[in-house]
Amino acid sequence: MSDDVLPHPATGRPFPSPVPPGTGWPGDPATAATPVARTAAQVRRGARGVALGELDARVSVCRACPRLVRWREDVAETKRASYADEPYWGRPIPGFGSATPSILVVGLAPAANGANRTGRVFTGDRSGDWLFASLHRVGLATQGTSVHAADGLELVDTRVVATVRCAPPQNRPTTTERDTCSPWIEAELGLLAEHVRVVVALGGYGWDATLRAYAGLGWSAARPKPRFGHGVEATLEGDGRSVTLLGCYHPSQQNTFTGRLTEPMLDSVLARAAGYSDHAS
Ligand code: SF4
Repeated sequence: MSDDVLPHPATGRPFPSPVPPGTGWPGDPATAATPVARTAAQVRRGARGVALGELDARVSVCRACPRLVRWREDVAETKRASYADEPYWGRPIPGFGSATPSILVVGLAPAANGANRTGRVFTGDRSGDWLFASLHRVGLATQGTSVHAADGLELVDTRVVATVRCAPPQNRPTTTERDTCSPWIEAELGLLAEHVRVVVALGGYGWDATLRAYAGLGWSAARPKPRFGHGVEATLEGDGRSVTLLGCYHPSQQNTFTGRLTEPMLDSVLARAAGYSDHAS
């Protein structure tokens, strides 16, 4: 861990990077007593039979993927030059938003200098700027910016999660890392199942991860497997319920800079999600 102790941009309270659990970082769900998973088997065991708050806490201290732990902590210590005067969270990123959401948004993984810095999913990077601005425009977020974990943002009937909870090098988790992390999202989907009516999958990775996670819970989708596309829709069924899965291009700079994804395209999918859920925007 770095010797640097720097002030949180909102609270002014000093933190080392990475941030130790239970030291008062805004939104930190963990305490010093939260059990730490260090292997895939411990992730599987740790994800079972816990309530959502405890699941978030366990996710946020997980150390089961050695390469990702090293990467997230290295980035937290070295920092991007433009954030050199800020502490970095440097831990896994739990879900953010409503604990009883009708709408779930599933992304890929945290950004090294975004959520890995701010401690909140999609917060502090360009993809998040696009996502939260759009959620705000369609009535699913209380403000259009998401800068740090104490900025007052609340989501309306919506929760945002990453498929893989640690920032990966080149934004590419390995298959083993993806599979090691999968019990966390599976458990989260199971806990939210009685509420979620619509899942918006950002990109093909989020789409496939959502299908895998629901399959892991025993839910079924149409055969052949529905293919990802922007605006594509599929129905998943299980436990006497159904969920609409909506595909949306990921608001990565690769897509937004090239015009593959525009603001109206993103708004249109999120507004559809709001319309399909119980939420009236
Ligand atoms: Fe744990 Fe998931 Fe991070 Fe791996 S990617 S260390 S399983 S939280």
